Amino acid sequence: MAQTQIQAAREGRLTAEMERVAERENRDPEFVREQVADGQAVIPANVNHDALDAMVIGREFATKVNANIGNSETTSDLETELEKLHTAVHYGADTVMDLGTGSDLDEIREAHVEHSPVPLGTVPLYEAVKQAGSPEDITKDLLLEIVEKQAEQGVDYMTIHAGILAEHLPLTDGRKTGIVSRGGSIMAKWMEENGEQNPFYQVFPEICEIFAAHDVTFSLGDSLRPGCLADACDEAQYAELDTLGELTRVGWDHGVQVMVEGPGHVPMHKVAENVERQQEVCDGAPFYVLGPLVTDIAPGYDHITSAIGAAMAARAGAAMLCYVTPKEHLGLPEEEDVRDGLAAYRIAAHAGDVGNERPGARDWDDALSEARYEFDWREQFDLALDPDRARSFHDQTLPGDNYKEARFCSMCGAEFCSMRIDQDAREDGEMKAIEGKERTDLESSPAAEVNRPPVGTHESGELPPMADHDHTDPLEETGDD
Ligand code: SF4
Repeated sequence: MAQTQIQAAREGRLTAEMERVAERENRDPEFVREQVADGQAVIPANVNHDALDAMVIGREFATKVNANIGNSETTSDLETELEKLHTAVHYGADTVMDLGTGSDLDEIREAHVEHSPVPLGTVPLYEAVKQAGSPEDITKDLLLEIVEKQAEQGVDYMTIHAGILAEHLPLTDGRKTGIVSRGGSIMAKWMEENGEQNPFYQVFPEICEIFAAHDVTFSLGDSLRPGCLADACDEAQYAELDTLGELTRVGWDHGVQVMVEGPGHVPMHKVAENVERQQEVCDGAPFYVLGPLVTDIAPGYDHITSAIGAAMAARAGAAMLCYVTPKEHLGLPEEEDVRDGLAAYRIAAHAGDVGNERPGARDWDDALSEARYEFDWREQFDLALDPDRARSFHDQTLPGDNYKEARFCSMCGAEFCSMRIDQDAREDGEMKAIEGKERTDLESSPAAEVNRPPVGTHESGELPPMADHDHTDPLEETGDD
């Protein structure tokens, strides 16, 4: 049987995936191995996922971003799902979760594995509900059957809702918004109807064996995450976290990689507390947070409310951020929402890395600022997180080619352009001119791949036709605008 990454690491063996990760992060392969061996980082890499370009998730590495895709009862076809995968990778998702609950789940999942250069995550409970017909009719055998099937299909990590226990349920009684995790609400219903402990918890050792056989990484679900600020950091949330810590160690004992999911909705002054507590309770296992949203008042803008919390979480040590789109709480995201959500989260992740002084992380900022100060508009667009948006916003008011050399833009206008005035003053006063000054060389930057443009972090030759990591707009490429 093939070894998992953590088993190999513990034996002192460097895998091809560890070498690749070290290259992408600009780190010593031995450091990667140590982090994986100690459970402080994971390399989600199912042995059956041939198209994967390995990546690492851990607080000592560049902060990663996950995008959720997947169909629903109302919208579902293979081509659309592959386009969603492409869009997510194009705009810089480091991993993708297929949360599909519609039809053709196997066909879509297999196509995702076949084409995805990034790790693919799933939530097996969703398929179990579909097959069983209702939450209470799910059986332990069905859960194991689905987990094993998805492991064989090549899924790299799975959210397993094993941490919510029967004794936790009364702790949610006083909450404003109850249990907001889909998986959590399903498990709570199952326990209430069947009068038994959480079935995932009951079969957890068997799941570990399946995961070990295929090197599937646990993403331990936070079923009791707060759904509003008022419920943040309550007894229920932290009781489940204690169970997640226990399950983390069970996973490690079986030679399985583990990361832990986190909230949710958390006010700013409690974000760091959440990260620190998870790191302590789960012995440093990578923390994978959804947002958190730092205020509840802005449906329609929750990519912003959550990116604020995500940046703070990254700064405090979260390893991966699950994106939130503007459609959160309102509807299924579409292409433009995916783009906006990923932009917000790439900003949060990068800001966290700069704040944590990751080697070379700020070089990208410096290179863009130098281009900006020199009025090198084309270079500024090329270096932008979303070059197409930067270019189109500029060109909305000053579209002509001559304005690509202009020493102003339409924001302040020629007369009041402060950078132009500043430069003129410096030159008049014989202060150092900008010409001839060396620009930051991103090619030789020690930054990890995700902290260098272009935003898409993966070779995408394996993706379907839409895939391209240059800066053209994928919508234009397909004529679908
Ligand atoms: S006009 Fe204002 S915004 Fe535009 S380049 Fe000059 S200083 Fe910057």
